[in-house]
Amino acid sequence: MWGCIHPGCENPAPRRDNAPHTNDAPNLFHSREFQRLYHLSPSGKLDPSTMHQMSLPRCGMNDTRSFAAWKERVDALFLGQRAEKKRRRRYSHQSGQWYKRHLTYRVVNWPWYLPQQQVHLAVKAAFELWSNVSSLVFWEATSDSADIRLTFFHGDHNDGTDNAFDGPGGALAHAFFPRRGEAHFDNDERWSLDSSKGRNLFVVVAHEIGHTLGLEHSPVRRALMSPYYKKLGKDFVLSWDDILAIQNLYGKPPWGSTVQLPGKLFARFQDWSQDIEGREHLNRNRSAHYCKSFFDAITEDLEGNVYIFKGGYFWTISKAGNATGPQLLWTKWPGLPSTIDAAAFSEEDGKFYFFKGGRCWRYVGSSLEAGFPQKCSNTGDLPRHPDASLYFQPLRHLVLFKGPKYYVVNEETFQVEPYYPRSLRDWGGVPTMTNGALTHSDGFVYFFRNDRFWKFDPDKLQVVASGKWAPQLQWLGCQAEDSRKAGA
Ligand SMILES: [Zn+2]
Ligand SMILES: [Zn+2]
Repeated sequence: MWGCIHPGCENPAPRRDNAPHTNDAPNLFHSREFQRLYHLSPSGKLDPSTMHQMSLPRCGMNDTRSFAAWKERVDALFLGQRAEKKRRRRYSHQSGQWYKRHLTYRVVNWPWYLPQQQVHLAVKAAFELWSNVSSLVFWEATSDSADIRLTFFHGDHNDGTDNAFDGPGGALAHAFFPRRGEAHFDNDERWSLDSSKGRNLFVVVAHEIGHTLGLEHSPVRRALMSPYYKKLGKDFVLSWDDILAIQNLYGKPPWGSTVQLPGKLFARFQDWSQDIEGREHLNRNRSAHYCKSFFDAITEDLEGNVYIFKGGYFWTISKAGNATGPQLLWTKWPGLPSTIDAAAFSEEDGKFYFFKGGRCWRYVGSSLEAGFPQKCSNTGDLPRHPDASLYFQPLRHLVLFKGPKYYVVNEETFQVEPYYPRSLRDWGGVPTMTNGALTHSDGFVYFFRNDRFWKFDPDKLQVVASGKWAPQLQWLGCQAEDSRKAGA
């Protein structure tokens, strides 16, 4: 996006041919080129697998020059010194570079629901990923001016309509090549600092920093500079191609060898439980926490108790609207993993169902049933990492939601019922990428995404209301929290 492809260009105008990924205009891409880049069969047509690849969450920067840049890098690796000079010159003409090695950065703003200190730790670690393998050194700026600025924006933010952010999913972020020093992040994404739901901020920041330093996208799938969003895994490190690319521009670190830190060091920046444990009014702060943040999953049992899940903890809200917790997941459901993707309670059999990755768990009360966890993604074709799940009375089955589709699941066999998955359009007005969903004792189905809810009428098969759940849905126990505070 950049627009700026010449070193030193400070005010780039958006360029037509530089438009972001986008899946609505096939002529923006040479489809065959795109397919070659992503290891699809090069039909040159917008077939389903190509469309799918184009719709995955990714960086907003386009890929038009990335294959050429990569080819030069690899050619030079094999051709050796002779190609060195030529390549360097061409490479820096393409995306620019910084002429100093000590760079300052500043986090201009960040999502309201993430703690400042942890955001700063995550950003620091993301810069260290690059300084560990190159001659670059980064400092957090103490004043307003900084070489590289990280900013969160909603929608259109004055760098051209092509660069306007597109809400949840799709383009997550973009950045400018040197020496403009700007990286922009879509504030409508749900960002996270750990392995729970949402886009991992550390991973996306580290990728965009790559662009601000002059790196193009990499066609190497494992590379951090691959344009598609990657989850943070335990073995998360820069790939050989990332290291080659940054060293081409800035050389090796002064101490000679490169240091690669394993991903588990970066896995959790947000341990809010430690963060608030030392404070006074422990219980009040803790019970308020889910009201002020996003949750991973939600369900309700036959007695009308609502369970809200976030990270390794859950809260229980009684039918009267009183919240207790947080409690560790395993204190009620021993055997659950450290976080979950989705939870459901079946009115049919009175059992709890939990989903994480490709696995599922089933409990009678607190007892894990024999044979669980199962690999449900293999045995029953269930989607991996479902967005949300619920028990849906009219179908008398569990329903799993994932992206633009939903799956009706037989809870005995964990098989997807015939003729499913189907399009989410069947659920008139329900958005994609919800965090959680439940059938409430008032007979309506509620869907949640970030701080909003959608109330769905199962008879009309339509969303009949929506709004902000914390202030508007009394049965989630957040209003009681506010009035207690006001009265205190
Ligand atoms: Zn990118
Ligand atoms: Zn921007």
